[in-house]
Amino acid sequence: MYNLYNMKKDVSAENKKGKLFVLSGSSGVGKGTLLKLFLEKHPEIKLSVSATTRNPRPAEVDGVNYFFTKKEDFLKAVEKGEFLEWAEFNGNFYGTKQAWVEKTLAKGENLILEIETKGALQIKKKLPDSVLIFILPPSIEELEHRLRGRNTEDEETIQGRLHEVRREIECSKQYDYRIVNDDLEKALKELESVICF
Ligand code: ADP
Ligand code: 5GP
Repeated sequence: MYNLYNMKKDVSAENKKGKLFVLSGSSGVGKGTLLKLFLEKHPEIKLSVSATTRNPRPAEVDGVNYFFTKKEDFLKAVEKGEFLEWAEFNGNFYGTKQAWVEKTLAKGENLILEIETKGALQIKKKLPDSVLIFILPPSIEELEHRLRGRNTEDEETIQGRLHEVRREIECSKQYDYRIVNDDLEKALKELESVICF
């Protein structure tokens, strides 16, 4: 429209705040796989990079997958109130920095956070307009099969993650949308229908 009137700036776009989407799901359910496919198709949507105290997996890169952070530095940032949300999950801390999220939304860009349930519910309380999406497995047996098939965790870590599953699924009843990741393409389409409306 602003080109039609030869205006220098699209003020309406400038005033429009971005929308925040929060994606959760038990470890191994396929969040990473789905998100990768989604972001390849929709590169205009931003993905938040969290801070974590867990060790990087072999293929993970600092600043890309996570900001890998020492526990003492993470706790200092908590004290300074730098996190929009944070939580302990299976013995490690994970958190989303507030400043970057605010800046991104203020620019009018839509943003996805891929975080666990305790953090997601903190976000919903602080930002009620955020949209919470939970990815469900077709069954717990299939989830365990995928988690083991990924081959990135030792047995103790796998057991710890499976231990969280029922609590997470119960928690997902408070989410806005729940998507079953059975057929990957179908789940991707459903995710698109929520985020791209
Ligand atoms: P998460 O990020 O939720 O922990 P991943 O994306 O790493 O999970 O997926 C865990 C494993 O499950 C991977 O090996 C992935 O290829 C596989 N996977 C993901 N989605 C599906 C699906 N719909 N059907 C079968 N396998 C899947
Ligand atoms: P992983 O160790 O498999 O990368 O992540 C473990 C869990 O932590 C996943 O459920 C993931 O969604 C969650 N997670 C990742 N980043 C954050 C974050 O910034 N905050 C919270 N609360 N959870 C996160």
